[in-house]
Amino acid sequence: MPENESAEKGIVENSPHLGLDDRFTFQCGPHMDCFTKCCRDVSILLTPYDVLELKKSLGIDSSEFLERYTFVMQSKDKKIPAVFLKMSEESQSCPFVSDKGCGVYAHRPWACRMYPLGMAEPKDAQQAAQRFYFMVQEELCHGHGAGQGCSVREWIDEQGIEPFDVNQISFRQLMGHPGWDKPELLTPDKLAMFYMAAFDLDRFRSFVFDTRFLELFDVDEARVEALRTDDEELLEFAMDWLAFSLFQENKRMRLTQSARSQYVPGPEATAPAEAPL
Ligand code: SF4
Ligand code: SF4
Repeated sequence: MPENESAEKGIVENSPHLGLDDRFTFQCGPHMDCFTKCCRDVSILLTPYDVLELKKSLGIDSSEFLERYTFVMQSKDKKIPAVFLKMSEESQSCPFVSDKGCGVYAHRPWACRMYPLGMAEPKDAQQAAQRFYFMVQEELCHGHGAGQGCSVREWIDEQGIEPFDVNQISFRQLMGHPGWDKPELLTPDKLAMFYMAAFDLDRFRSFVFDTRFLELFDVDEARVEALRTDDEELLEFAMDWLAFSLFQENKRMRLTQSARSQYVPGPEATAPAEAPL
């Protein structure tokens, strides 16, 4: 287990578990002597919705955002790509921090909103009730024990975390899928497709509209229209597509009649042979 992964596991195991109504005291703001220190030399894992929010904030497309501001690490055993915010090479600071604070504050990632809270939950989305929170205490941060105090629920509300939670339910469900435990099915092509559909949303839009995709899948007309411009709808659609193409779950993906006549699904099937992957 990598050193930081093991350290994180230690924090989760050794910190008191907090529920939504548990309270803590914490203060943060430009008046603190540690202001922005938490934005340097930090490992920030991005969710697909974080990428969507940040590219919107910067007014660039997802491919440019990923290229300029992130790096990818693959899990050791299954090689599943995970996307991290890239710190500046010279200063090891987040590319968005300045003396005035966070330059993408309204669109900042889930992890930045949650800090100093962490969250742990079972992989199985059906067991979401077992989710708990814990405090991340680091020497560099002087906000602990100061201020008036608030509950975990109030913190989540004040930091605008709810849309980030809501918009990553399908991603969490996908990542908790037992199909990931069959590494023989996770070919490099499929993992590249996962990265594209989950994180490189503008490229995924081209995949849907500039290939034969919509001839092969029967997608409701209103949804097709929404997919042209609505990134959140497209992200949800990408999760449906990944569940279908990675794990053969087709609850919300239907092949068109002509595609069905050309395609007989088998145990290894992932998509019609003509689907451009
Ligand atoms: S995104 Fe904003 S809050 Fe998060 S590390 Fe960067 S500057 Fe800090
Ligand atoms: S180090 Fe802690 S208190 Fe200081 S700015 Fe960051 S989160 Fe706020």
